[in-house]
Amino acid sequence: MATQLVPLPEVERLSASVVRILAGNPGKFTLQGTNTYLIGRGPQRLLIDTGEGRPSWPTLLKSVLSEEKATVEKALITHWHHDHVKGIPDLLKICPNAKVYKHQPDEGQEDIKDGQVFKVEGATLRALHTPGHTVDHMVFIFEEENAIFTGDNVLGHGTAVFEDLSAYLSSLQKMQNRVSGRGYPGHGAVIENATARIVEYIRHRQQREDEVMRVLRSGKLDEGVNKDEPSPERETSWTPIELVKVIYRDVPESLHLPASHGVLQVLMKLEAEGKVQHDMRSGKWSVSTRGPVL
Ligand SMILES: [Zn+2]
Repeated sequence: MATQLVPLPEVERLSASVVRILAGNPGKFTLQGTNTYLIGRGPQRLLIDTGEGRPSWPTLLKSVLSEEKATVEKALITHWHHDHVKGIPDLLKICPNAKVYKHQPDEGQEDIKDGQVFKVEGATLRALHTPGHTVDHMVFIFEEENAIFTGDNVLGHGTAVFEDLSAYLSSLQKMQNRVSGRGYPGHGAVIENATARIVEYIRHRQQREDEVMRVLRSGKLDEGVNKDEPSPERETSWTPIELVKVIYRDVPESLHLPASHGVLQVLMKLEAEGKVQHDMRSGKWSVSTRGPVL
């Protein structure tokens, strides 16, 4: 997947008030690397995220700041993952007066509350608590551009991972229809229509959920016309990895294990809704005999 990504320049001015600086950590999960954003127009700027401590990032940040004749007043951290926070010490070497903000802050950081506003010349950012990828995850509405900094909830390419599917879906719904403009993701290229992409993400999750239900019910992805007639390969209960082998049959086997974490999340959400049940001992899942069966 990583080979098909469009290359991004290390530093790129994306609008009159946004410069993206790559963190220098490209990879399977970080795509072209973590995006950090310098925001505003005056001598005092906001920064979103700090990368993961690679040496190229402070060098780039320093040269952008001297070119812009600006400093970082406040750094807003989207979430605790190391590829977003490990550059904080580097930032503080360059901008010793910068204040670091994060929801559920670590020592030495300030809290970000849901709805909190951060303002510098040319930019007003409104924070939204949007858990699911992590519990502390925040996104930021950029009012002047009617845009949104999406963190790792919505990426420039592909889909995002999450640790709590129900919370993640609620967060996507909270982010939906907030802006008519761009999305600036935590990884990957700028998203021209953020709301359209968020709607696509919600639809994609619904589709995966439908597929899990379909395989649990009929043993296969395509139900065919004889919906009620069990197919020969029908199993009544399934482990997540067995489901993955059917649902992701066209995906390389090396991706099956990571995919099974997502399927387990789907199963846990469906269980909470009373649609599926699982046997503790065998770890197998089946359609709920008590709940609604659609
Ligand atoms: Zn990330």
